[in-house]
Amino acid sequence: MNKIGIYFAFWERNWTADYASYIRKVKRLGFDTLELEVGALEKMGADRQLKLAELAREEGLDLTYCIGLPPAYDVSSADNATRRAGIEYVGRLLDTVYRMKGNMMGGILYACWPMKGAPSYEDKLAARERALESVKEISKKAEEYGIDYCLEIVNRFEQCILNTAAEGKAFAEETGSERVKLLLDTFHMNIEEDTFRDAILTAGDRLGHFHIGECNRKVPGRGHMAWDEITAALHEISYQGRVVMEPFVKPGGQVGSDIRVYRDLSGGADEAGMDEMAREALLFMRERLK
Ligand code: MN
Repeated sequence: MNKIGIYFAFWERNWTADYASYIRKVKRLGFDTLELEVGALEKMGADRQLKLAELAREEGLDLTYCIGLPPAYDVSSADNATRRAGIEYVGRLLDTVYRMKGNMMGGILYACWPMKGAPSYEDKLAARERALESVKEISKKAEEYGIDYCLEIVNRFEQCILNTAAEGKAFAEETGSERVKLLLDTFHMNIEEDTFRDAILTAGDRLGHFHIGECNRKVPGRGHMAWDEITAALHEISYQGRVVMEPFVKPGGQVGSDIRVYRDLSGGADEAGMDEMAREALLFMRERLK
């Protein structure tokens, strides 16, 4: 049975938040997993990280970790100092996940997010090679720690290096590390893939993590996403990993502008309404992932 989770930022306007309150909330709502932003955790320091990990253990809640690397830590950068800073930063993020006894870290971990400007195709190819060298180096630490390093495949407007499961799989294989896996996300797949099924089958046993949401990033069940095709394909590859919803429905703050949420997609929901929406989506997915 797949663990079903939710990303804390569904409720938040900023990437830094009172994570303890979200551990309690999503447990109460019935989720198995809470996904946190690992950059914010890294800044909190070891004491607070350990307290949060302890709280999650007490609550019986599983934690997962994600991030889109900031431009200052772009591990695909043409600037060598930036690339070195990025590799060191990712090392500290892995230290954080390891300290919290996590076993996965996902996101745009091979470049920065969101991508700046519109690079040429030649720029992309060169950035891919630099990203590959960086991830090869980083994967040693992921292996040592037993952490799956899950490269999120995103749409062309957010990054150009890995837009499809096929590109991601080739890249992961070239790293030579079994710990380098893929994170597929239905929102991005809907833009870039021919079919959900083919993309999921292409990822196959390299699929390390899975994000879900509707085409406009509403919670699962409120749009026209092909849920039957998606869940059948996950079943077909015997995917045992987590399925984490990553809805974004509220405009405003850093989250709103980073995600480009420019209208209220929540129907004016207050906090209780947001909780109810998350709970409904959880039941919707539980039924389909049975
Ligand atoms: Mn995602």
